[in-house]
Amino acid sequence: MVNTVRYLIIHHTGGTEKNPLADTSHHTLEIIHEYHRSLGWGKVGYHYVIEKDGKLRQGRLDTEQGSHCNQQENGISMNLQSLGIVIAGNFDFSFPTQAQEATLKKLLQEKLKQYNLSPSKILPHRHWAPKTCYGRKLSEDWARNLVISTPVQSEVQIQLNQCVVDKIILEKKVLWYNSLLESIKSLIR
Ligand SMILES: [Zn+2]
Repeated sequence: MVNTVRYLIIHHTGGTEKNPLADTSHHTLEIIHEYHRSLGWGKVGYHYVIEKDGKLRQGRLDTEQGSHCNQQENGISMNLQSLGIVIAGNFDFSFPTQAQEATLKKLLQEKLKQYNLSPSKILPHRHWAPKTCYGRKLSEDWARNLVISTPVQSEVQIQLNQCVVDKIILEKKVLWYNSLLESIKSLIR
C-alpha cells in the first residue's frame, strides 16, 4: 500500500531490550536494519535515520509503507500516513547532538514544504504509543520548535530590543539635559 504523508513522526533509538538505560547513539542505518529484520519486518522500519554525526540516511522511500508506529487514526495505521524519522540515541537519558538537530531541522523544513504540512503535524512517537519515544528529556514540541520560533522566545527578544532602544534614547536625553544645564550655568555666571 502507498504511504500518504500527513504526519512526521519522530523517534529515538532508545534503550535495548536487555537494558533500557543503554546508550544507542552509535546506532546506524545498518544496525537498525539488522534489528528490524530480526523482528521479521523485512527491512528497516523508518523512512529516515539521523546518525550521531548528523548524517542523514534513507531507510525507505517516502511512498513506501513504514513500520514504526502501528497505532491508528481515523481507522488508518500511522504506518500508512506518516514518515518515520529516527534519531540515533537514548533521549530518556541524553540529548541529540547539535549535528543531529541541524539535520533534523533541515529535513523537517524540506518535508513540511514538500507535503504542504503545518508544523503541528510534527509529533513524537509517544503522541500515539504508550512509550517515552523520542525520549523523556525532550518536550512534546521539541522537534516542532526546530522549525518555528517559539512565541516565548520572540516576546523576550522584542522586549530586549525595546530595552536597548530605550537605553539609547535615555542616554541622549541625559546628554541634552547636561548641555542645557551647562548653558544655564554659563548664563547665571
Ligand atoms: Zn518510537
